[in-house]
Formats: sequence, C-alpha cells, structure tokens
Amino acid sequence: MLQHAAAKTAHPDCIVFFRLGDFYEMFGDDAVLASGELGLTLTSRNKGKPDEIPMAGVPHHAAHGYIARLLAKGHKVAICEQLADPATVRGIVPRDVVRVITPGTWTEADQLGERENSWLCSVVVGAEPGHGVGLALLDLTTAELLVAGLADASELLAEVSRAAPREILLSSELTSADAAALVPVRSALSEVARGTPIRLVESAAGDALADVEGLDAPPLGRLAAARALGYARACYKQRDFPVWRLGLLRASAALGIDRATSLHLDLATSSSDDPSACLLAVIDRTHSPAGARLLRRRLLAPLIDVATIRRRQDQVEALLEAGRLRKELGSLLGEVGDLERIVVRVSLGEANPRDLGLLRRGLLAAGRLVDLLGTLGPDAGRVLGLPSAVDLVPELCQHLVRALVERPLAQAKDSATFLPSYDAELGVLGELRTSGSERMVALEVALRERTGISSLRVRFTRVFGWYVEVSRTHQAKVPADWRRKQTVAGGERFTLAELDDLAAEILGAEERFRAREQELLAALLLEVSLHGERIHRLAATLATIDVAASLSEVAAEFGYVRPLVDDSAELVIQDGRHPLVERRAGLGRFVPNDVLLRVGHEHLWIISGPNMAGKSTFLRQVALIVILAQMGAYVPAAAARIGIVDRVLSRVGASDNLAGGESTFMVEMRETATILRNATSRSLVILDEVGRGTSTYDGLAIAWAVAEHLDQVVRSRTLFATHYHELTELAGSSATATNHCVSAREHQGEVVFLHRVVAGAASRSYGIEVARLAGVPELVLSRARALLTTFEGSAPARSLALEAPSAQLDLFAARAAHPGLAELEAALGAVDLDRLTGLEALQLLANWQKQFGRRGPA
Ligand code: ADP
Ligand code: MG
Repeated sequence: MLQHAAAKTAHPDCIVFFRLGDFYEMFGDDAVLASGELGLTLTSRNKGKPDEIPMAGVPHHAAHGYIARLLAKGHKVAICEQLADPATVRGIVPRDVVRVITPGTWTEADQLGERENSWLCSVVVGAEPGHGVGLALLDLTTAELLVAGLADASELLAEVSRAAPREILLSSELTSADAAALVPVRSALSEVARGTPIRLVESAAGDALADVEGLDAPPLGRLAAARALGYARACYKQRDFPVWRLGLLRASAALGIDRATSLHLDLATSSSDDPSACLLAVIDRTHSPAGARLLRRRLLAPLIDVATIRRRQDQVEALLEAGRLRKELGSLLGEVGDLERIVVRVSLGEANPRDLGLLRRGLLAAGRLVDLLGTLGPDAGRVLGLPSAVDLVPELCQHLVRALVERPLAQAKDSATFLPSYDAELGVLGELRTSGSERMVALEVALRERTGISSLRVRFTRVFGWYVEVSRTHQAKVPADWRRKQTVAGGERFTLAELDDLAAEILGAEERFRAREQELLAALLLEVSLHGERIHRLAATLATIDVAASLSEVAAEFGYVRPLVDDSAELVIQDGRHPLVERRAGLGRFVPNDVLLRVGHEHLWIISGPNMAGKSTFLRQVALIVILAQMGAYVPAAAARIGIVDRVLSRVGASDNLAGGESTFMVEMRETATILRNATSRSLVILDEVGRGTSTYDGLAIAWAVAEHLDQVVRSRTLFATHYHELTELAGSSATATNHCVSAREHQGEVVFLHRVVAGAASRSYGIEVARLAGVPELVLSRARALLTTFEGSAPARSLALEAPSAQLDLFAARAAHPGLAELEAALGAVDLDRLTGLEALQLLANWQKQFGRRGPA
C-alpha cells in the first residue's frame, strides 16, 4: 500500500490503476469514484481492521474498455505496473506509474474513431490583449503537430471548433499568471468544445521548448506547441513518440467559417436526429481512414487560394475521367487501410503481428495503385500530385513479404507469425515442434505394441502435461515402471521416463520457437520504425488520392460539375441544388435554382416568400456550394462561377434556431454583430429571418438597418431571407439590391410550393393556406380570412397586420408600392408560352423592363 500511496501522491489528479496480478485495483476515493462511473462492485481491503479501505478492480485484459469510459467522463488514469515478474522476485514486487492516460494522449487504436483525428489542443493566452493567442494541435496517433499564432479569441474558437479536440490544455504566456485571467477564455472554450476536458496547466513546467526551436511559427504558437509536447511526454513517461508532420496553421489562408455557420449548415455534424444528415456524410466516399480524416479537414477548412483550389479540382477531374478504373482504385485504397496510424503504432511500441500483416497488405496495394494510376496517361501522376517516383518503401515491403505468414494474428497463440523459410533457426525449431508431435504419435503406436493395449492413448492437457491413458479393463497389462498420475472415470493416467523426456524436448522446442519469434518480431518492428517517416509520407500521398477519388465518385453519381473558381467578385450559380435536401427529396424531385451576385452591381438579394417555400434551403445551398467549391470539390449545379469568398457568415433568426437551444434575442443580436464586424467585401453573408426574436417594429428596423449596412457599407455578397415584406422596399432605394421570392401558387384553395426562386417580391404570403396544411381547424381559418379582409380594407391596418400572428403577410402594401404590378400581372397572364420564341421572350422582357422596371437596360 505504500507503493499505492506514492503513486497517488505523484498523480493526485488521476485515478490510479494499481496492478495486482491479473487485475488493476483502485483504492480509496478512486475506488468509490470509479465504481460509480463504471458500475463496478465496491469491496474493501482489510475489512474490519482499522486500515480498512474501499477497493474496486477490473481485469487487466479488459482494462482498455474501462479506461475509455473513464476518459470519456473527463478523468485521467495513471497505470501503475509491476516492474518485474512476481515469480522471480522475493518480497514486494517493484511497481511504478509507467503511463498517464488522458483523452488527448490515448493512442490505443481500437478505442478511437478512425475517421477523425484525435487532437490534443494547447492554448496559450498572450499576456496582453495585443499579443494574441497561441494554438497547437498534436495528434499522437498520426504523428502530426499543427501550430498557429492567432489574432484573437474568435479565431481561436473557430479553430478549436473545427478541430473538435479530445482534450484542451490552457495556459498563459506569463509564468506567474493568476488563473482568474484565463477564466473568460476557459468559459468560451467550454462552450465550443462541449464536454471536452479543459486543463489549466502550469506554464514553464515541462515545456519542451528545445523541440520547437526550429519551428517557423509565431512565438506564442511555439510556446503552445512546447506545452503540448511537454504534457504528452509527461504522460508517456519513459517512452518516446514521433512527430513526422509539422504544419503551420494560418487562419488567413482558409475560408473563414465560424462555429455558428458550420453548425447552421450541417457541415460535419447534423442538427437533426440523423447523424448522417450532414454535408460530410454526403461527400464522403473515401475508402481509407486517412482519406476520411483528410476529407473532413478539407471540408472544415476550405481554401482561398485560387491556384491550390484548381490543383485539387484537376485531381478530381483526372479521376473523373478514369471512369471504370475508379472502382478498382477504390478497392485498392480500401486495402491500403490506415498505413498512417499503423506505422505510428509501430513507433509507439503498440503494434502487434497483425499490424505488420496490414502494413504488408497496404504497401503491396500502394504499389498496385501507383501502377494503376500510371495507366491513366503520362500526365495523370503529376496532376494527382504524385512525386515522379513514388517511394513505396520497396525493400521493407519485400522484407515483410519474405517474413510473414499469410495471416498473422494479433496475439500469436498456437499459430506462427513468421514463415519457416524466413529464419534458419526458426525453421529448425519449427521442425522440432512439428516432428515432436509426430514422434509423440510414433511413441503411442510403440507403447500399444509393447503392452498389447490397443485402446492406449497418449494425450496432453495444459494442467497435467503429457500422459498415457489406459482404460480400467487393461490395468493389469500396465508395466511396473509407469507412474500413476491421476484416476479418471474411464481409467487411469500414467507417465513414464520415455514420455517425460520427449515431452521436455517438445516443450523446449516450443519455448525456444516462441522466444525466437519474439526476437524476430522485435527486430522487424524496429526495422519498420526506421522506415516510419517514409511510410508516413506515402500514406499522406495516398490519402490525397483517396479524397480526390471520393469527390469524383460523388460528382459522377450525382451530377456535380467543376465550378470556375477565380478572383472575381461574382457568385454565379446556374441550377444549383442543396446537396442534402436533394438526396432526401429523391432523384429529380429537387427544384434547382440560380443565383447571380456581383459586387458593385447586384450584391444583395432580398428573398421573400411564404413559410415552407424554400428560402432557408436556397440560402444554405448557396453557402454549401461555395464551401464545396473552395475545398476543391465539384458542386451540385449545372454550372458555377465562384469568385473567391474570404468568409461565409450566417445568421438564422431566433425561432429558426430552436434546435441549438438558443432562442434569445440577445444571442441573435450578438451573432449579427459578429457578422457586421467580420464581413468584408469578399464575404458571403447569409441572413435568414434576422430580427425575428423581438417585436415586429424593432425587428423590422434592425433587419432593415443590417441589410442596408451590408449593402451600402460592407458591400458583401449577401442573401437576406425575410418575412418582413417592408424590406422589399429597400431594393427600390438601392441600386445594388434586388428582390427575389420563392414562388408558390394557389391551386383549388391549396397552396402549392414551386420552390422556384424568381425575380420580384412575393405577391402573397399564403399564410392561411399554410395554416390549413398544418391542420388548423376550418372555423379558425375562416375567421382568419375574415380578419384578413378587414386588414386589407383599411390602409392604416397595415401596421396592425404587422402585429398579427402571421406577420409575413402584406401583399397589399406591395401592390400599393408598385402600382404597375396589376398591369404587369395581366400582361404576363396574356403571354402564350407555347408560341413564344426565345427572342420574342427577350423582347417582351425588355419592353416590360422599360415600362415597369426601375432601371433601364444596363
Ligand atoms: P422556408 O425557409 O421558406 O420556410 P425551407 O427552406 O425550410 O422553407 O423549405 C421547406 C421545405 O421545402 C424543405 O424542408 C424542403 O423539403 C422543401 N424544399 C425547399 N426547397 C426545395 C427545392 N428547391 N426543391 C424541392 N424541395 C424543396
Ligand atoms: Mg426558413
């Protein structure tokens, strides 16, 4: 118990797993806590004595599952092992903590989501506000370290929410900072990373500054990296871990997507009950875990550099042209498996023979994959970003082929890991092993002959070893020099010198065979880790191929096209579709829509239309198409031209965002403020029913002011969906704002949603029809109809109408504001579409524009 006390003193913040034979035991408060968290039986040690102490235990072979559950609840676990074999030690076995396991440093693969990175995040807050924030992300399972110097808390929160880390370390640039200074950052972080443990770490202590000396990153980022490495090292104790990929994260190099927008758009998480209802699930056709991880990262951090985006598009295009080969490519990528994590596991000393088998399979598949890509034409390799000679680590691959049996097992029980031909000594021992059992069979035959007992058997059990079994009827024929071992129901078990000798020989061969296998395994693992970095690089290349293959697969299956991405200030989408709603609606049921925004010409669209018409869907689809385009993917549209967007900013009116549990006007306005502060003339702003969270006049006033500011001052490309009909008047006073509406039609008293976005303000709200669809009783509906007529009749009632529950009506005001509307409607009605040619249609439009439009032809 002294050992336990020492371990607990050294790791007071951990639950200590104390190894006793085949169990990990917990004592005292740890036992009480863990038995509660894990549902273990609580017992006690030294029961009835003065030093009685609570105790709970888990079998050591099942420990991983329990540890994972404790980590998920935010605990840390210290593993206190026996440092020597109890059989060879006299007195107390030496024990010590060999490892501290925390969510961000847990590398045992089977517990991890393989399609996501497992980040340990380190945040260093600058001493003064102007110093900014340092961020480091360390993934021990993929040997990656990303470092960033960020300007402020909002950049930090965006990065943290993108990374979704498993654990966050928080510290200050100051060595002697008081914890209170970190409180605001801490609470902001806990909001974006719900449930993720946040630990205040001591600055300076354990900093691994020497490791990041050469790192070309801002000083605070370096400090954050040093603290992440120091923390991981402290958890790993004497073991080392590789860092093979160092990256600099630059917030300004990525398309800015804040957390609210990412959630609103269902990029990688779903706001509904169905976890697969997110964009990532729609575009993820990757075949390897490393590919899946890369795709996820690209989706959450699209680019703003045209050249790089086009290079990625070229890759998708090259594989799209590969057509039927893609299927074969997919299955090879599946065979590649998770080379990245396997090779890291080898370096961490956590790999087993099965991993070596997977590595061999992966390297072989990689070779065939590169050959296959070679058949795509002379240029394909370059387009796909392959180096002129891909390093397939051939010598290691051949070594594995020479060494391993067909299917090495994680734990070699009776089976072998290595081929007999691989090692002369192993071959001999292996033969001894097999010949041993053959000689046993021969001995059995000989003993039968010698004694005349035909039913005599030579057998083996783990407990008794080898023996001869003779049935009771033949007892008399047993030679005198045989020793009796055991009596069983069917007869007696004996042994004899000859059998003992042979048994010892077999056992010896078996032991030596195992020992030799262990030696060879250690040597081979060492060899693999020497090549670790090369394999890691190959894995990264294959992951990019997997991503390109996935995107081309989706493009081919769902008819996505390559968007023209450039530095223009335009956003033109022809027949765009919403990638998720389209899938749900079923093939051909989704109504595609256009958008055309040009900064300085027409950059604000005010979109009106009844509830359920499709406003929100349209807004989101535009944002999703921009994000897809800038991550280098094809997009669900007939054609698109995307002038680079620096940020996608979105805000959903309070009542549309109930899912997030945020319904207060305050939240709505805070986010609107963020948008107004961050939007630039390169941004895409999506505002969905802003101003809903307050009384009508307030809401309208705010919505108007926000729209006007974006239109006149910021001049960002903006889509503004609103139920405030008054807002459509804004378009009349601005040269760069236009009205659009999502059309609906009344058919035999029922409203039919056409989901088509057309120019002009909504003429009707169809509120009552929607109410009918929703099942409001006829009595109430007819009363509503009567009221509506009253409101319509009196001009001053317009303001009253705004206060009415269905605040989105007010088509009458629209008619008043546009006296030509009735005339235009009549003219439209008179057109015979069956006879009209395209040219005539254009002519008609031009006439109408002259007659009714505010602006003549440009
Ligand atoms: P609004 O925001 O105008 O109230 P939504 O965008 O929420 O309307 O759309 C309501 C429903 O209409 C969606 O759930 C979707 O199923 C359907 N919908 C929207 N747009 C389309 C479209 N273009 N094609 C087919 N169905 C659509
Ligand atoms: Mg909506």
